[in-house]
Amino acid sequence: MHKLLIATHNAGKIREYQTLLADLPLEVISLAEAGVDWDVEETGRTFTENAILKASTYARATDLWTWADDSGLEVDALNGAPGVYSARYAGSGASDRDRYLKLIRELQALGSVDRSARFRCVVAICLPNGETLTTEGAVEGRIIDAPRGSHGFGYDPVFLLPGEGVTMAELDQEAKNRISHRGQAARAAKVRLTALIEAINETG
Ligand code: IMP
Repeated sequence: MHKLLIATHNAGKIREYQTLLADLPLEVISLAEAGVDWDVEETGRTFTENAILKASTYARATDLWTWADDSGLEVDALNGAPGVYSARYAGSGASDRDRYLKLIRELQALGSVDRSARFRCVVAICLPNGETLTTEGAVEGRIIDAPRGSHGFGYDPVFLLPGEGVTMAELDQEAKNRISHRGQAARAAKVRLTALIEAINETG
């Protein structure tokens, strides 16, 4: 069985991928299990550039099939910020709570503005031979002033899913995976990976 390296140090994402990828005919391993304790600097200007940068760098370094994603929150009233800077929005050492409180403050400072936003995710899969594929997912919502819910991570407590009347943090892991940007991108990536595995098995 091929190994698939999941290239993230983010514990929230690792939990989500363990559920999402459980039925793949691949042995899923973490960066720690692959002996990788260093980070790739995310210098890309888009989620796609960063996802490919991470997947290709770790694939070359480990000689493993590598799955990486880049994701974040785009807020329309902030011209798409924090975007690719979502993880770094409140500086280094800041917590998830620091970041969403900063977001609320910035929106409140703008007065009564449109609160529409979306989470986006791009998954990149790179093979050590350089073969690369990408898939995407997005989920629309609104930013609220008072955090709600205790599941998930990041900006989930302030991201309201208007159709559901709940925040992303009020959904358990399974419900979140069914609708989330990461769930969408991961399911599409799984379809592509399965086809790749079948093609490799057929050619021996
Ligand atoms: P990445 O690790 O570079 O993809 O950074 C993603 C950052 O975007 C996270 O640290 C969160 O701040 C935010 N983010 C991405 N996906 C989610 C999500 O599913 N829920 C809440 N925040 C998210």
